[in-house]
Amino acid sequence: MSRIRILPEILSNKIAAGEVVARPASVVKELVENSIDAGSTRIIVEIEQGGRKLIRVSDNGQGMGRDDALLCLERYATSKIAADPDLFAISTLGFRGEALPSIASVSRFTLVTRETSADVGTQIEVAGGRINKVSDVGAPPGTLISVAGLFYNIPARRKFLKSIDTEMGHIADTIASMALCRPTVQFRLSHNNRIVKSWAPAAEPMDRVADVLGTAIKKELYTVERVTADIDISGWIASPRINRSTARGIYLFVNGRWVKDRVIQHALFAGYTGRLMKGQYPVSVLFLKVPFDQVDVNVHPTKHEIRFVRQKLVHDTMRDAVADALRQSDPTRWRTNQPRIAELPRGSATISEPHAEYNMPPTHDHQGPQVGVAADRTAASTSCAAGADDMQKPLPAAEPVDTAAPPIDPTARNGKLAHQKPLWKQRFFADLTVIGQYKGTYIICQSHDGLMLIDQHAAHERIVFEQLKRQSKAHRPAAQRLLLPETIDLGFRETQILEKLAPELDRFGLEIEPFGGNTFVVKAVPTLLDSAGISGLVTQLVEKTAEVGVRAEMETILDECLMVMACHNAIRANQQLTDTQIQAMLEQLDACDNPSHCPHGRPIWIQWRLTDLEKHFQRIV
Ligand code: ADP
Ligand code: MG
Repeated sequence: MSRIRILPEILSNKIAAGEVVARPASVVKELVENSIDAGSTRIIVEIEQGGRKLIRVSDNGQGMGRDDALLCLERYATSKIAADPDLFAISTLGFRGEALPSIASVSRFTLVTRETSADVGTQIEVAGGRINKVSDVGAPPGTLISVAGLFYNIPARRKFLKSIDTEMGHIADTIASMALCRPTVQFRLSHNNRIVKSWAPAAEPMDRVADVLGTAIKKELYTVERVTADIDISGWIASPRINRSTARGIYLFVNGRWVKDRVIQHALFAGYTGRLMKGQYPVSVLFLKVPFDQVDVNVHPTKHEIRFVRQKLVHDTMRDAVADALRQSDPTRWRTNQPRIAELPRGSATISEPHAEYNMPPTHDHQGPQVGVAADRTAASTSCAAGADDMQKPLPAAEPVDTAAPPIDPTARNGKLAHQKPLWKQRFFADLTVIGQYKGTYIICQSHDGLMLIDQHAAHERIVFEQLKRQSKAHRPAAQRLLLPETIDLGFRETQILEKLAPELDRFGLEIEPFGGNTFVVKAVPTLLDSAGISGLVTQLVEKTAEVGVRAEMETILDECLMVMACHNAIRANQQLTDTQIQAMLEQLDACDNPSHCPHGRPIWIQWRLTDLEKHFQRIV
């Protein structure tokens, strides 16, 4: 007798439920997706006891006739695709025909549905996958599905449900993401008969974003927009000042589908490079549109995962779109409408208005200090923390600043206006009045409307990082040949890494050659780098590469290497600087693309506005 048999349908549905229905939030997701696919404009979700007791979703969509209502509970029954080719052109959220039978097999399930044109609706009651009753009922047009006692017949699964709050949190996240991608649909979520969220149809997608993420975030959002022949990216990303400790503020949608895709998430992080610290996550709502045949959504039953045909193209386009949005929008936050023309040196008044702008750090309404990034300071990466290190290293010569203005005399702090550079060169830091240095670590400055502290190590790290990067892109940077080449001995694994890395480092003017076995010689060092301790630096570069992973993209590895070099070369904390050095540093900071964060994402400056200080001193209320 044969040992192999086809499983009964109820059992196979239960098995499918193992994948499709992980927790109450997955039920909510599947039901709401069905409501969206049915063209609903109003979706109401009612939950009791975190979904353990009850999940009820009702909509005003197209509804189903009796035959369809019975069919939809069969495995692989769907109205959304019909033939093979359809699988490669999926425009609906559902298509697998698995959700309803799966859910119905692990709960006490009731479906009430009525087509608009029908006089009467259909009610079907199911328990553990068995249809108990089918009847006509009076019902409004649309569909109502209630799922009671989820996993009542699989005690092992029920035991694994988390606390009510945790499950409700997942449900709220699910509704939030659905609401974000369908702004014109009205949503309501209630828990134990109390309304938790209620979102009216939004006239503008941005209004829905503000509804979901909170209005406070609205003014910190930057628009992302990029349309190429193959990809259309739109949405919003928050300033790096707003960040979270989990990925829960990241909402990604591909062709209207909420996804948790590794590739896009990685691209998003790559776009924020240098603006967030390790462990900080950005907040963003991004919509990607690609031709339906360019994305496979049939990767996993939950349909959260997808695969792009041209993964690298999608990744790089997304990364660049995010990076450009940050680059363009962050500096604009620096502008304020402080007096301008009045302060212009005589003879410069002909400068056209758009150029006559000073750059100012962002202004906030709160009373705390403004920082380059609103960071949880305890989480600061220690790898580059400006620790007590009294190594005396000279500040490298300033990179030539392309301006026709006379050089600034750093000692003439109060007579600065006489030397003011023409305003077509962006200046903010160079125009600060330096008050002094605190603990040999922070530079205290007076800005137009506040008091500013600049972390000299973080600032200089950023400067060296950008200079190295810029130089390596333009041409091979000037290198200094070592009179006595330094040798380095490495372990087996490190040797493999350096063999691969050395030709790439050559682009920065760091010349390293194999010397047989596990030994290497450093022959030349970029002039921007201090040659003292170079072998230690090379070892660090190899270690960093091992940490990032040799399989990472070379550009990522090299960026990490540049950060290590920048940190190696940057002036330290506890180092007295001369006025000239400080002024040179401020000038160079103005030339930076991102003068607000060190390459690891730590803030470079903190500012207290005068009005906030005055409030603290109770001079004003
Ligand atoms: P899929 O969504 O993958 O097609 P489901 O099991 O989720 O599979 O649903 C099966 C079918 O039931 C759908 O294709 C659709 O025709 C119908 N259906 C489910 N929910 C609704 C709804 N809320 N309104 C109208 N039709 C629905
Ligand atoms: Mg479905």
